[in-house]
Amino acid sequence: MAESVSRTLDVEEVLRTAVGALTRVTGHEIASLHLLSDDARTLELRGDRGMSARLREVNRVLPTGEGLIGRVAVTGKTVRIDRNYEDPNVLPSAKAAVRREQIRGFVCVAIHCRGRILGTLSLGRKTLAPFDRHELALVEATAYQIGLALDNARLYSESLRQLDEIKRTHTQLIHAEKQLIHSEKLSAVGELASGVAHEINNPLTTILGQTHLLLTHPETSSHVRDRLGIVAEEAGRAARIVQNLLLFARHYTPERRPCSIADQARRVLELKGYQLQQDNIRVVTDFASCPFVWADENQLQQVLLNLVQNAHQAMAKHPAHRVLTVRVWPSDRHACVEVRDSGPGMAPEVLPRVFDPFFTTKPPGEGSGLGLSVSYGIVTELGGILRAENCSDGGASFIVELPLGEPAS
Ligand code: ADP
Repeated sequence: MAESVSRTLDVEEVLRTAVGALTRVTGHEIASLHLLSDDARTLELRGDRGMSARLREVNRVLPTGEGLIGRVAVTGKTVRIDRNYEDPNVLPSAKAAVRREQIRGFVCVAIHCRGRILGTLSLGRKTLAPFDRHELALVEATAYQIGLALDNARLYSESLRQLDEIKRTHTQLIHAEKQLIHSEKLSAVGELASGVAHEINNPLTTILGQTHLLLTHPETSSHVRDRLGIVAEEAGRAARIVQNLLLFARHYTPERRPCSIADQARRVLELKGYQLQQDNIRVVTDFASCPFVWADENQLQQVLLNLVQNAHQAMAKHPAHRVLTVRVWPSDRHACVEVRDSGPGMAPEVLPRVFDPFFTTKPPGEGSGLGLSVSYGIVTELGGILRAENCSDGGASFIVELPLGEPAS
């Protein structure tokens, strides 16, 4: 019996084999095996032999602590009765069935393992011969074997679960490692780019400065001024890319002070005014009075410039009526600014990726894919939200929400 019970690691099979083997060996008529439920409040019938449907029904779920079997599950002490159907401790719900079946001899032992009661093993017979010492010893030994086998089965299923967990963790680790390699590559690229950006920044400042000097010089002819305008525009674009690269690599220490979003928006629109006008873009502003936000002015300008620049590029290629709308308004504990254009909007596959670093739909030389990811980083660091959406009448809208009030130190 011990051999057949310990051969398997499947709980259901342990129970089936145990009850089957026990009745086969002892020749007893009725056997039942109950296991404690998870909360230990009830005993559940998990295996039986020779039980009538009625007896099985009254034995299906038994309360722990009550009745013959229920008590054994609490005390752990073996119970032996010679006239089962007359015993006052038989559960009222089982009494009629036990009487009808004329069950006389009855024995119930606890199934233990590691000092814990797992359930009970009961035997009954209709003959008058009482259970003797040897039979009792055999039932107790069987219960002990069942306890061991159940514990093995439990340990085995626990091991399977842990193995599963290890496999899952392993897969996650591989994934994390891949990401780490990717981010290491990115940071190496960032490092390199910021070195180059620093080198480019100085000559660019000189080019921009000289171009502006020449633009304001009284002897500069209009033809030269037009060309110089192009030089200034392109140098400005290069400077913006460099700025974004530097911010991306975080080689800039921002200083947060109270500042007005509307003032920063005005500055950016002034800066871009000439170019927007050149491309026939009408600028509409709606600046409601709004409390200060705690931010770095340069960073705010950078964000707004990126948004306006994107809106400009989107509309310049779009043959529709061109309107750039910039709105500022206060909302519940936030200052909000929206940059909206009448361009083509963003395609469904583009929209979820616009904030990804290096994501661009523009040809090389026109887009670096850094503007929005840098802006997103800045706004998030300020505790705010930057979101993108398509407008119902076409065009794209970018909304920045920044928290009002001084940030906690
Ligand atoms: P870049 O402008 O250099 O491509 P960004 O990070 O600023 O990089 O923008 C990423 C992408 O988001 C753009 O290439 C474009 O596809 C999309 N996008 C951004 N702003 C707009 C806009 N106003 N209208 C339509 N698409 C936009």
